[in-house]
Amino acid sequence: MDKLLYDVVVLGGGLAGLMSAHEVASAGYNVAVVSKVFPTRSHSSSAEGGIAAYVHGNSDPNDNPDYMTYDTVKGGDYLVDQDAAELLSQKSGEIVQFMERWGTLFNRQPDGRVALRYFGGQTYPRTRFVGDKTGMALLHTLYERVSGLSVDFYNEWFAVDLVLDEKRVAGVLALEMRTMEPSLFVAKSVVVATGGMGMLYAHTTNAYINTGDGYGMALRAGAALKDPEFVQFHPTGLYPSDILISEAARGEGAVLKNNKGERFMARYAPKKLDLAPRDIVSRSMTIEIREGRGFPGGYLALDLTHLGESYIKERLALAYEAALSFAGVDATQEPIPVRPAQHYYMGGIDVDITGRNPDLQGLFAAGEAACVSVHGANRLGSNSLLETLVFGRETGRAVVEYLKKHEGHSSTSLEREAEGLLDEAYRFVKSESGVHFGEILNKLRQVMWDDVGIFRNEDLLKTALSEVEKLRSQVKNMYVSDKSKTYNTEFFNALELRNMMDLAVVIAKSALNRTESRGAHFRTDYPERDDKAWLKHTISYLKGNQVEIGYKPVTFTRWQPEARVY
Ligand SMILES: Cc1cc2nc3c(=O)[nH]c(=O)nc-3n(C[C@H](O)[C@H](O)[C@H](O)COP(=O)(O)OP(=O)(O)OC[C@H]3O[C@@H](n4cnc5c(N)ncnc54)[C@H](O)[C@@H]3O)c2cc1C
Repeated sequence: MDKLLYDVVVLGGGLAGLMSAHEVASAGYNVAVVSKVFPTRSHSSSAEGGIAAYVHGNSDPNDNPDYMTYDTVKGGDYLVDQDAAELLSQKSGEIVQFMERWGTLFNRQPDGRVALRYFGGQTYPRTRFVGDKTGMALLHTLYERVSGLSVDFYNEWFAVDLVLDEKRVAGVLALEMRTMEPSLFVAKSVVVATGGMGMLYAHTTNAYINTGDGYGMALRAGAALKDPEFVQFHPTGLYPSDILISEAARGEGAVLKNNKGERFMARYAPKKLDLAPRDIVSRSMTIEIREGRGFPGGYLALDLTHLGESYIKERLALAYEAALSFAGVDATQEPIPVRPAQHYYMGGIDVDITGRNPDLQGLFAAGEAACVSVHGANRLGSNSLLETLVFGRETGRAVVEYLKKHEGHSSTSLEREAEGLLDEAYRFVKSESGVHFGEILNKLRQVMWDDVGIFRNEDLLKTALSEVEKLRSQVKNMYVSDKSKTYNTEFFNALELRNMMDLAVVIAKSALNRTESRGAHFRTDYPERDDKAWLKHTISYLKGNQVEIGYKPVTFTRWQPEARVY
């Protein structure tokens, strides 16, 4: 097997991975970025609505970073580590101004100042945007920037597993997807920035590549996930394809209506209405649909028509195009059919405020793959793009500090371990019979949607756990029908499924364990938030077939829990 030597390997070419790589390469270290798609095709590129930031002199005169922190903490139902949220707010202005100087052209107001729009849960409007294609603009800017540094890109390479030297991460096993040829990347430190896991759910706004590979790799290596039970459902997936209709639509004034024409959010969030946080709106919509006030097939109406054709086409071009192409609806003339769909993962690889994982030396994580925790039990819209940049940078800087103290590579020969991991992975192409991976995948996605979804309870979660465990035991006997070595996408899908399966069992078990309702984790059998028992982070390990659960305290600075009304 080929051996490649680097100071740092970054897994993922999205915003978080590129920002970390930028910091490490700028400090003179040699860096490899490994990505299973060309970097600008990462899911960051599909972010639509915008990036939150407070910029002195260009934000609402009443706004300040403390309001931003408060909104984030309250939005996250007080499970947010407040020092992390403070850092996010304080660095927000600086980081968007960097991106602007580097080339991202944010929309402007007629007087030349940057335009702002409201996103859910914000006291003042503070989301900056490039039409409704903000992620694309940011990712292209950053990719261009990092391309100018000495970073080696391994595009269309699939990271299979972390390679360990005892309790230290010493490298990565990766396969070139074109040929299936393996390589061992030996590194002093690894940054996991592999993004989210939406494909775990039957309905998701996420790309097909969002299969939670980093969570699976980290769990198998012995690192914990933090708060794995917290999965975000976005209110407005386009019906029936689940393509995202950005929250920007409601930020610009679009209104949700039921089959009676009622603006039903008035019943659930009298002040914030359609711009209450996502968990609240998604639950309200589900209730409307379940109680028969949805449209046939199970959707509701998102009405933009009053905004006018030219405004819609300028500010919400993607929403307009998606509705027309994928639902045959002209949003300037009639409402868009929408329903909730999985959107974001608040849980992630357990890291501190510098991106460092406490379980394995040399392991760092950033972006959606990580849980810092800055979003707590529910992320506010437009805070994720911001997190990828702010904490991508913090992580890169922490890696540089780490490298100053840990200069050498692991002295152990890592080949044997890598060969073992490779044999495990190749098993799926060698195996001729058993269960086809596609069958397991479809069942898994449906179970997660039905039983570990927007509303949960003990019965559903117990069913889910036993179903997932059954499916997970079938993964050992899983096969793919394509046996070729050239772009064998079926084989890589099977590896992705293995990652999703390891993650699914941890989510289901952790959700069953948390007997309260907080943010996106809503238990009909425990409908109240219980700060006495549950104001703490879940820390979950996967040991063979067992999920081991522990806890960590939430960091408080200035904001005490209060009732979360909007
Ligand atoms: C449709 C949509 C719209 C959104 N809109 C917004 C918005 O307006 N504002 C906002 O703040 N947030 C938004 N979000 C959320 C936000 O875009 C993401 O959380 C964020 O971009 C994630 O960035 P990331 O760098 O962590 O991961 P990603 O951008 O997802 O990148 C992951 C990278 O990891 C690589 N990778 C994964 N697995 C492997 C593997 N096994 N081997 C090698 N490489 C691998 C991929 O190739 C990719 O390069 C949106 C999300 C979606 C799905």
